[in-house]
Amino acid sequence: MELLDGQLVSNIIKEGLKLQVGQLTVEGKKVPHLAAVLVGNNGASETYVGAKVKTCSEIGFRSTLLRLDADTSENRLLNIIDDLNNDVDIDGILVQLPLPKHISDEKVINAILPSKDVDGFHPINVGKMVQGLPAFISATPHGILLLLEHYKINTKGKHAVVVGRSNIVGRPMSVLLSSNTPTGNCTVTLCHSHTPNLSELCRQADIIVAALGKPEFVTADMVKEGAVIIDVGITRVPDSSKKSGFALKGDVKFDEVAPRCSYITPVPRGVGPMTIAALMKNTFMACEERSGGSLI
Ligand code: NDP
Repeated sequence: MELLDGQLVSNIIKEGLKLQVGQLTVEGKKVPHLAAVLVGNNGASETYVGAKVKTCSEIGFRSTLLRLDADTSENRLLNIIDDLNNDVDIDGILVQLPLPKHISDEKVINAILPSKDVDGFHPINVGKMVQGLPAFISATPHGILLLLEHYKINTKGKHAVVVGRSNIVGRPMSVLLSSNTPTGNCTVTLCHSHTPNLSELCRQADIIVAALGKPEFVTADMVKEGAVIIDVGITRVPDSSKKSGFALKGDVKFDEVAPRCSYITPVPRGVGPMTIAALMKNTFMACEERSGGSLI
């Protein structure tokens, strides 16, 4: 079994971006600028946004963090997004999800200019991705592809089972793994909460992407010997032995599954850091595009 070390690979990607930003600075060109919007004070969201802003500063990107109260109205948020869309200095916009219940995720995502939608959630980017056209790809699936690419994992002709069909992880992952690309060409089974015989389907999989948000859901008896396991899940479970009071658990029962597989991502240090690396790559691409590139 080999560990798919997301922390290591994300560091390599970030180093590469840092060099590219250094080059932009030497040439007197604009460096990428990410705007992050955080509404309310959800603990996990604070952590994720904090990590994204910190990464920007580590690699030389500029970042602007806009913190808004939990009772911010939908209209005010939409006006703020409009301002960011029109701000020529901002290359990428991310609005940390989940949003408070009184704000529609859909309206907010649709309000972001597709050319600044570095999270890749806007229907225009999703549509382009489905058609295999250049697009911002949702950061988590994009990060998983970068991980598969780094470890030269052969996906061609494999059976991939994706558990979870959310718009930000499972569904785009299923499309990308089935696309005619070097990290695609799988035959994909997309599973959800109404899928019967889930264990049986998982046992047939060469690759399992677990993205359902149920800690330690995938157990050894659901995994074929030699399978590749990508664990997207991150759930905070109470743990009094930790200073924070919680431990992070993936969707895979790592200790019992790891000995059965060929490759597996740990939690933490697996998909999480790759998501941030992919977001940074998307932001760099947005900046290049706005400076006259032609990728999107
Ligand atoms: P969602 O809650 O939006 O979607 C969960 C999906 O899992 C749904 O499609 C749901 O099915 C399916 N599901 C739930 N229970 C079962 C079950 N028992 N059997 C089969 N399918 C089931 O979650 P997200 O996609 O946003 O996130 C999934 C996990 O990934 C979470 O733990 C989240 O924290 C983590 N995450 C990690 C990231 C990272 O960077 N590492 C980034 C984003 C998310 P149905 O549609 O039928 O309800």
